Amino acid sequence: MARFVFITGGVVSSLGKGLASAALGALLQARGYSVRLRKLDPYLNVDPGTMSPFEHGEVFVTDDGAETDLDLGHYERFTGVAARATDSVSSGRIYSNVLEKERRGDYLGKTIQVIPHVTNEIKDFIAIGEDEVDFMLCEIGGTVGDIEGLPFFEAIRQFAQDKPRGQCIFMHLTLLPYIAASGELKTKPTQHSVKELRSIGLAPDILVCRSDQPIPEKEREKIALFCNVRKEDVIAAPDLRSIYEAPLAYHREGLDQAVLDAFRIAPAPKPNLARWQDVQDRIFNAEGVVKVAIVGKYTQLEDAYKSIAEALTHGGMANRVRVESEWIDAEIFEREDPAPYLEGFHAILVPGGFGERGTEGKIRAAEFARTRKIPYLGICLGMQMAVIETARNLAGLETAGSEEFDHEAGKKRFEPVVYHLKEWVQGNRTVARKVEDDKGGTMRLGAYTANLAQGSKVAEVYGTLAIEERHRHRYEVDIKYRKQLEKQGLSFSGMSPDGRLPEIVEVTDHPWFIGVQFHPELKSKPFAPHPLFADFVRAAKEVSRLV
Ligand code: GLN
Repeated sequence: MARFVFITGGVVSSLGKGLASAALGALLQARGYSVRLRKLDPYLNVDPGTMSPFEHGEVFVTDDGAETDLDLGHYERFTGVAARATDSVSSGRIYSNVLEKERRGDYLGKTIQVIPHVTNEIKDFIAIGEDEVDFMLCEIGGTVGDIEGLPFFEAIRQFAQDKPRGQCIFMHLTLLPYIAASGELKTKPTQHSVKELRSIGLAPDILVCRSDQPIPEKEREKIALFCNVRKEDVIAAPDLRSIYEAPLAYHREGLDQAVLDAFRIAPAPKPNLARWQDVQDRIFNAEGVVKVAIVGKYTQLEDAYKSIAEALTHGGMANRVRVESEWIDAEIFEREDPAPYLEGFHAILVPGGFGERGTEGKIRAAEFARTRKIPYLGICLGMQMAVIETARNLAGLETAGSEEFDHEAGKKRFEPVVYHLKEWVQGNRTVARKVEDDKGGTMRLGAYTANLAQGSKVAEVYGTLAIEERHRHRYEVDIKYRKQLEKQGLSFSGMSPDGRLPEIVEVTDHPWFIGVQFHPELKSKPFAPHPLFADFVRAAKEVSRLV
């Protein structure tokens, strides 16, 4: 049976709880244990699928097709363990399950209450697959004291109580603010946060304290005394130059040792940190810089494209260069010539997106990359725009466009080279959708196989002819334009196994121009950069050498 680590946060949000959890997962793996990480989010949305990327950052998609919190991306990038639908849950999902059961009559007429019905639902969720791993790390979103968080805190209290003694520990992240006037790190907010936790029956075993200064011995002792933890269990979390330093930094501060001590695991297995030493070496000892322009819509909030930013970093690590990416608002190219904006870049990436706004600009960015022979990676919407570009500018389909934009506008203006998919095959079942379906959870989601054409660029990049990648979209490139587009040099080099859905297109007479209907960025890791990103950055590096 797994040992459970519950990770909570206090004082303020955005302290890097997700990163600390992910780094701890990596460190436990380095000690030879198997781990799984889970996120419990108190918000009322059923899942983040319908939340704006401006509000919530990227939606991370799992192989089994769940739309989850972006923290699951960190978990995967640090542990390499593929997240599942059962690794992310929100209050909305919990309540909706409880209410569904109530309607079905499962509770046999009982009055439904937060305790025990909601808390039981949460506890059942936490326990899913508990026999599969050595450690289950569960992060509770938000901060202690939030009203929405209460059922989750109560559930983990009960959960630990239900388990044999020593099976569960609690780790709490707080902030030690530095007051320049007095030259001191202040421990009071941490004390208050722990007091708040204890008032709801949770006593932390380990405190992880974020601060931009080292924690002096005196403050460490004070925190230990007032918060009732051992001094060695007060772990400093200093600011880092790169998130990929986190496993080694937390190891230096003694986090994994403290966790093993809390479970009374002695002697502790020795860690093998070679993987993270190599990652750190590649991050900090880059031998050049490549500049990538990301032409998208959600450019104000970097978290909106979190996995793309990380995958580019990994691609840089594979080539021992630092990738400097700049986010450019696609709408600018609807008013202005893209050339002056894009000329200094070694590669162009057009990411996924929804809705018509900015798409004409993305089409112009694709045209610029194609005609100037600059490496281009189009992801999902970025592939669709590249197809529309070739259709309009080379195949003579002047009104080529996507049905998505006509649906949005409520009128027909385009010839739909990208159309709304209403039926497709997933594994061995057929999935059907209507245009007027709900927005939540109705896209083509999760892992699908694609077959690659022998001799194509992508087959060379992947080094195989069958791949599996994650999807999240409603619209597809229409196979009926294949011949016309291939005649213009846009080859359909990756197809769904039934041959109906174009998964990859590439421009044959071009050093590197690839569009993919899926999201390769979701599967990239610092210790295993995704082949498409590694090769895209390699191509960019070549361009950087020429200029
Ligand atoms: N909006 C497009 C679709 O639904 C692309 C989605 C995406 O880029 N993730 O097909």
